[in-house]
Amino acid sequence: MVDHPQPLGGNEMPRFAGPGTFMRLPGTTRPENLDVAIVGIPFDLGTSLRPGARFGPRGIRSESVLIRPYNMATRAAPFDSLRIDDVGDIATNPYDKNDSIARIEQHYRELLSHGVTPIGLGGDHTVVLPVLRAIAEVHGPVGLVHIDAHTDINDTMFGEAIAHGTPFRRAVDEGLLDGPRVAQIGVRATGYAADDFDWSRRQGFRVVQAEECWHRSLTPLMVEIREQLGAGPVYISMDIDGLDPAYAPGTGTPEIGGLTTPQALEIIRGCAGLDIVGCDLVEVAPAYDTTGTTALTAANLVYEMLCVLPGVHRRDKSVLTDDT
Ligand code: MN
Ligand code: MN
Repeated sequence: MVDHPQPLGGNEMPRFAGPGTFMRLPGTTRPENLDVAIVGIPFDLGTSLRPGARFGPRGIRSESVLIRPYNMATRAAPFDSLRIDDVGDIATNPYDKNDSIARIEQHYRELLSHGVTPIGLGGDHTVVLPVLRAIAEVHGPVGLVHIDAHTDINDTMFGEAIAHGTPFRRAVDEGLLDGPRVAQIGVRATGYAADDFDWSRRQGFRVVQAEECWHRSLTPLMVEIREQLGAGPVYISMDIDGLDPAYAPGTGTPEIGGLTTPQALEIIRGCAGLDIVGCDLVEVAPAYDTTGTTALTAANLVYEMLCVLPGVHRRDKSVLTDDT
């Protein structure tokens, strides 16, 4: 543990100061020494309404300063078990969507060549496509836990095959997903036709509409999701707009009637035990986030992702119950 990178503590440097990395980790450009790499993907050329997710990585890192290393609820201590660090941002091309997508894919290939588990800070949801391309090269088609207000399975948007509303359609086209091991949770609101959700169902995805989540704990749902996803590799992709705009207003395409913050915690914590090979948290747009709540929530959910990665030990686990 001693030589694992650790977040800078609030008694060593005030939390309003120090490094601008995620959780004030040391930061590194050498992923070969890591188990987990936190990487910023500052890209929003795929947005359809309000842009600004290019500032997401910076906003999430900024609001991550208060997060402490030990999870009081689950007793997970990710920095005890794994070498986790912030490897900075991918140099996207602000003038070229497709070049940016190629750069993201190449950067992920490089990260994955060192055997690290990548945790991406978006960026709009387009970025999951090049990420899944690189992931599938290593792991084959993966299972997916996708939290979102939208299924993101449009064929094209404004004639474009690559946009933030199309990544999972492309991922199916390219054989990157294991359809029966995909769950889309929190989808809702208005569409163009029933097919906006039913196309997913025809691929074998489990689609959990937000209405099925209202007024209840999602811990029982996650028991079913773990059973559905089984033992193979799993990717977690969380679009912050899966949460209700009351909890996460700072995003490009908000929809009412969404998940609560405790439900988002239940979903991520309910992924413990799955063979998670990568995660992302996308669509945080700080310009609409006047209180910082969205980025604060996003930062904590990224921390919760770290807490459920394979190999993370829990301190004092004799007192744990299975579902915490
Ligand atoms: Mn999305
Ligand atoms: Mn969305």
